[in-house]
Amino acid sequence: MTVRPIRFYGDPVLRTPAEQITVVDDRIRSLVADLLDTTALDGRAGVAAPQIGVGLAAFSYNIDGQTGYVLNPVLESTWGDVEEIDEGCLSVPGLWNKTPRYEHARVTGIDLDGEPVVLEGSGLMAQMLQHETDHLKGVVYIDTLAPEHRKEAMREIRGSEWFAPATASAGSAKASAFGRTSR
Ligand SMILES: [Zn+2]
Repeated sequence: MTVRPIRFYGDPVLRTPAEQITVVDDRIRSLVADLLDTTALDGRAGVAAPQIGVGLAAFSYNIDGQTGYVLNPVLESTWGDVEEIDEGCLSVPGLWNKTPRYEHARVTGIDLDGEPVVLEGSGLMAQMLQHETDHLKGVVYIDTLAPEHRKEAMREIRGSEWFAPATASAGSAKASAFGRTSR
């Protein structure tokens, strides 16, 4: 049981497209276990591997008591209306923003046995599927906001106590990343 600390906006790992998982070994099994533990906490709908500092294509979810994970997820299809929904992200704590999301979404991928997985839904499930697959492309939801909302969000982020700009020297950025804990 390991709840891993969450990386925050500004950490380069959140900006880096995740790599595909080619071999399922103990490292991947332990990644999945950590993702599930980290997502199981109250109020968490999903965690993508880069959010716990691992640049691999995997996420876990916790939607209305339904928990699980997907390896190498692909957002196959989105449909329905695009709605602006209140969205937050563990990597951008304290902020909520109206974010454009399709009403329905379908993700395909594999499980630890290499068997196909299909996740499909509307509402929170659809929102989570779009949010987590964005993370694996190196996209944080703040990036998808309309320009005026993004500007506002960036101002809030810069004023947040957890925010350490990526422009800080590599040494100090590393030190603060290791010193952080999720709350
Ligand atoms: Zn997120």
